[in-house]
Amino acid sequence: MRWENLSPGSEHSRADTVLFGAEAVTTRTFDAPEFRGVTFHEVRARSIVNRVPGASRMPFEWTVNPYRGCTHACVYCFARRTHSRLGLDTGLGFDSQIVVTVNAPELLRHRLASPGWRGEHIAMGTNVDCYQRAEGRYRLMPGILAALRDHANPFSILTKGTLILRDLPLLKEAARVTDVGVSVSVGFTDEGLWRTAEPGTPAPERRLDVVRTFTGHGIDCGVLMAPVIPFLGDRPDQLRAAVRAVAASGATSVTPLVLHLRPGARQWFMSWLGRHHPYLVARYERLYADGAYAPKWYQRRITRQVHELAEEYGIGPARAGTPRRIRAVGPAGPAGPPAVEPTRLTLL
Ligand code: SF4
Repeated sequence: MRWENLSPGSEHSRADTVLFGAEAVTTRTFDAPEFRGVTFHEVRARSIVNRVPGASRMPFEWTVNPYRGCTHACVYCFARRTHSRLGLDTGLGFDSQIVVTVNAPELLRHRLASPGWRGEHIAMGTNVDCYQRAEGRYRLMPGILAALRDHANPFSILTKGTLILRDLPLLKEAARVTDVGVSVSVGFTDEGLWRTAEPGTPAPERRLDVVRTFTGHGIDCGVLMAPVIPFLGDRPDQLRAAVRAVAASGATSVTPLVLHLRPGARQWFMSWLGRHHPYLVARYERLYADGAYAPKWYQRRITRQVHELAEEYGIGPARAGTPRRIRAVGPAGPAGPPAVEPTRLTLL
């Protein structure tokens, strides 16, 4: 992605020649309590639709990420490393130095209208959360969703942010004309673990309220149970509590994903672990001795347990590569007749 200068003479702006080399950005801070200590770097990009590298394990090819960095501040966030590519710190800097592509909606609309675009699925929330707190101020997603709706372009969103509820009407409009997938990420429901490991996120129960609201409006919503954190969130009673809560929310599926610790995230997570759970450091070093992923036997064990619980509570596990059908709703809402063919939820 390349950057262009914003009006350097504006009141709160300064050309930041450090952040992106020779390119300039506008840097702002806001006094509102929810943004205390957070700095926003507003940039104008030249492209917003990114192709996922071929070697990726992700089941999608195109992504849109209007933000870099995330105030949700999850200690395990795998996207931390991407901040270093911008010359920013991957620890506290990732949590508090937020890069905002302020022209994301117009860039996307332009790309969707270009002759070379073939209407492929676009995944959002795949790098950082597009419904993090910054979205409340910058309001980029309504323009992005409107562009996708107007071009009937299929898309999916994965989020921990309850702010997505603001855009429910737009999402319903889009679901009438194209495939729309919504997934919410809830790895555990343990309150103590949430407060320390995901300090900037809405509480797990609030996230499940999002699921409840979406399903109440006829838009099926899956839960990505991620991450399951070894030795802290993987006890049988914890898994049961999480799956039971997910089922009670009306989620259509639950997909477990064990914590992975890629470079950047690994150092930050391990330093957090050393402060909060020092007795676990050696166990983690052994469990992740071979790299970023927990051993296959451990991943299989968690997957099996979650799938068994999902069956017990009456929700289906999402199976990789199997698109799930979601009800398309007409103008009359959930009880109304389908306006289009059933839409498809792409597994994130
Ligand atoms: S919400 Fe997602 S993107 Fe944001 S810090 Fe947490 S894991 Fe990272």
